[in-house]
Amino acid sequence: MLPDTFQFSQSNLQAYRACPRRFELRYLRRMQWPAAQTDSLREAEQRMQLGSDFHRLVQQYLTGVPLDCLTAGLEHLPALRGMWQNYLAHQPAELAAPQARLFPEVSLSTVVGGFRLSARYDALLALPQNPARFLIIDWKTTRRRPDSQALRRRIQSRVYPFVLARAGAKFLGRPVAPEQISLQYWFAHAPARPEIIPYSESRFQADGDELTRLVSKIAAQTDFPLTTGEKSCRYCVYRSFCERGDVAGPLTEWDEEESLAEIGLDWEQISEIAY
Ligand code: SF4
Repeated sequence: MLPDTFQFSQSNLQAYRACPRRFELRYLRRMQWPAAQTDSLREAEQRMQLGSDFHRLVQQYLTGVPLDCLTAGLEHLPALRGMWQNYLAHQPAELAAPQARLFPEVSLSTVVGGFRLSARYDALLALPQNPARFLIIDWKTTRRRPDSQALRRRIQSRVYPFVLARAGAKFLGRPVAPEQISLQYWFAHAPARPEIIPYSESRFQADGDELTRLVSKIAAQTDFPLTTGEKSCRYCVYRSFCERGDVAGPLTEWDEEESLAEIGLDWEQISEIAY
């Protein structure tokens, strides 16, 4: 049974969809389990660190740290420097729009099915066109750019615009209609190919229904079964605990996105602005 104070996020909902038992172990029992996610622990850790460093770098830039200072610190970090150069050459044009209001690393939350659902945005932009537009930007640092259908299927693509449509008016001080919202995934390794996903009233209604159903189902659940899709187990730290093998999957087939999303959870749990 979930504690009343439990907060849902795109990270833990994604984990639930991948494996209910992983959701239970990681987010309810908070179990630490000392196992590698891939067969190349060092490389996997380096990639995750790189993703985290890139997010921090962009955040510092967007909050006004001078470009010279940031660039000077990258002299001996070629991988991060390459991603940073991609950012400077291909950053979303909306960031430079006149009179745009930018909110880096902002969190909003709303109530769904009796529980809080939070979303932490890498960047949120209010663009003053008539009508106004609201752009959510999410930096992605994975080596492979997922295809459009995979991105649109992600629960993040539903949670982020849904929470903004619900909670944005109070934060931004103006109404936020679903049609005014879009979500942009920007890729550090494919900077010229962002994925832009517009939102709509019909999607907002459908997402509200689906998220309520999903949260209510999880809240009522007392048993969290192991996934039947055992591919997830190859990259899961709990695989020996679950007796799903003791050899980590190959790095070449690893979905970094899933692991990076779990880093995101920790950000999402901190100091969100609740409405
Ligand atoms: S090892 Fe497999 S069954 Fe166990 S928590 Fe991980 S994904 Fe789920």
